[in-house]
Amino acid sequence: MDLKPPTPGWDPGAALAAVKARIHVAEASCGRAGAGVRLLVATKTWDADAARAVVQAGGTLVGESRMQELAIKGATLAAAGATVHVIGQLQRNKAQIAVEHATCIQTVDSLALAERLSRLTLEREKDLDVMVQVNVSGEESKAGIAPGEALALASVVQALPMLTVTGFMTIGLNSPDEAAVRAGYRVLREIRDTALIESERGRYDLREAWELSMGMSGDLEWAVAEGATMVRVGTAIMGARPSA
Ligand SMILES: *Cc1c(COP(=O)(O)O)cnc(C)c1O
Repeated sequence: MDLKPPTPGWDPGAALAAVKARIHVAEASCGRAGAGVRLLVATKTWDADAARAVVQAGGTLVGESRMQELAIKGATLAAAGATVHVIGQLQRNKAQIAVEHATCIQTVDSLALAERLSRLTLEREKDLDVMVQVNVSGEESKAGIAPGEALALASVVQALPMLTVTGFMTIGLNSPDEAAVRAGYRVLREIRDTALIESERGRYDLREAWELSMGMSGDLEWAVAEGATMVRVGTAIMGARPSA
C-alpha cells in the first residue's frame, strides 16, 4: 500500500477554509444560507500523516474508500478525534474493518451487505449508521442500487438490528453538463423526501433518513443547490491524487 505523504507546503487549514467558503457561497446563492451543509474530507490515497493534519486543521469528518487504507489509518484518525465514514464500495469480507473504524457506512447497496453489518455490530454491541447508495446516473460502472429500489432497501435495512438509516448517498454523473448532473442529484433528493413523507404517514420507518450525501470537488455547488446536506471533497482539500 503506497500512500502519499502530505505535499510540501500544503496548508490544510487554508484549503479547508477555501472549500468551506465555496459551500457558504453555494448555500447563499440557492436560498439555503445557514443550511449547515457538512464537509466530509475524502482522504483516500493519502497517508496517516496527511489525514491527521487535515483532522487537526478542523476537517474532523473523514471519508475512507478502501478498507486496506482504513486498516492502516484508522488508529491515527481515531486518536486525532476524527469521525470516519466509509464512502467506497464495501466487500462483505472487509466489513469487519469498516465497523471497527467507522461510525457510518454510506455505501450500503444490498441487503446482504446490510445483514453482515448488522451481525457484526450485534457482536460488538455498537450501533452503526448507514446510508443507502443509489446509482442515480444508471452508469454500469457505478455502484449503488437503482433509484426505484432504494426505498424498499432502506426500509428493510432500517428493520435490521443495530442499524440506523440516516440518509442516501450517490456519486454523481462525471460530466460538465450541469442540467444532467443536477437531474441525478434531484433523483436522490426525491427519494429522501419520499422516505420522510411516507414515514410521517406510517408507511416507512425512515424518519432519521434525512441526509443527502452528494457532491465532490468539481460539482459541490450543484449538489448544494439540489439539497445536499453533506458534500464529500478530496482533491480540493488534499491536492491531486496520483492517477491510479
Ligand atoms: C474520492 C471520492 C470523493 C472525492 O472526490 P474529489 O473529486 O477528489 O473531491 C467523493 N466521494 C467518493 C465516494 C470518493 O471516492
